[in-house]
Amino acid sequence: MAMWIARTVEEARRLRHASAGSVAFVPTMGALHEGHLSLVRAGLGMADRVIVSIFVNPTQFAPHEDLSRYPRPIERDLELCRDAGASGVFHPDVAVVYPPGVPECIVEVPAVAQDLEGRHRPTHFRGVCRVVAKLFNIIQPSVALFGQKDYQQWKVIQAMVDDLMMPLRIEGLPTVREADGLAMSSRNIYLGPEDRQRALALSRALTRARSMVEEQHCDDASVVEAAMRDVLLGVGADIDYAAVRHPRTLAPLERIDTASPEGVVALIACRIGPVRLIDNMVIGAHA
Ligand code: AMP
Repeated sequence: MAMWIARTVEEARRLRHASAGSVAFVPTMGALHEGHLSLVRAGLGMADRVIVSIFVNPTQFAPHEDLSRYPRPIERDLELCRDAGASGVFHPDVAVVYPPGVPECIVEVPAVAQDLEGRHRPTHFRGVCRVVAKLFNIIQPSVALFGQKDYQQWKVIQAMVDDLMMPLRIEGLPTVREADGLAMSSRNIYLGPEDRQRALALSRALTRARSMVEEQHCDDASVVEAAMRDVLLGVGADIDYAAVRHPRTLAPLERIDTASPEGVVALIACRIGPVRLIDNMVIGAHA
């Protein structure tokens, strides 16, 4: 069956319910790459159909951020969704998602959202939660797939779904990387050739953290954080944070509990030239 494209909430609801069976949902801001498509393909194994949303959500951008120049190659995105096996795409305009005159509802998960990205982008997760809650209510999926690339976002959404008892499952899927280690991101196209090389420092810093914990058995979080900063400063990155945290709560750690099967998560946000990049890695996890 041909893939449907819905532009309004009514259309999306009608088309979503037009065929029976469970729905896996992949929310995106478009400019799709292999990371997004890996979520679509994984969704095909988790439900009868996959629905993708493509919406550059203004409420998760701060005024100085890149909302207006965020890439929007919609025809190509639709083609990629079709090829990946999506059944439908919800691609609304801003006024559809945020109808004028409707008072704003704030959805926040302070305990997970305040630090790290939340510290540097104070209204970001409030915007993410608001749009994702709307999209869940429109699409009514049984499972929604998120990338571990946005690790804190995944944990914030999971916490929102748990506390508000939303009737769906959240799945976090592994980060898809370029062959040289750079995490795929719609923002990578902003990187000039030299910055593209410098951007490899993020994955290098994370693999350095991993070898310190897993091979050298370093259990001092601040020593691992300092080593990550060294790698990033080596390419002149402007660092927002380079942190080792609890993998579920994202709480700071003094000691890395190497006996814990969950391991820890190392997270980085920094600017390489004009581009702000994030990346992370779970390290020290074992069965
Ligand atoms: P975005 O379009 O950036 O909002 O991302 C939409 C979804 O794709 C989010 O759940 C992201 O975490 C996920 N995603 C983005 N980049 C990657 C990647 N390199 N690997 C896996 N998932 C990703």
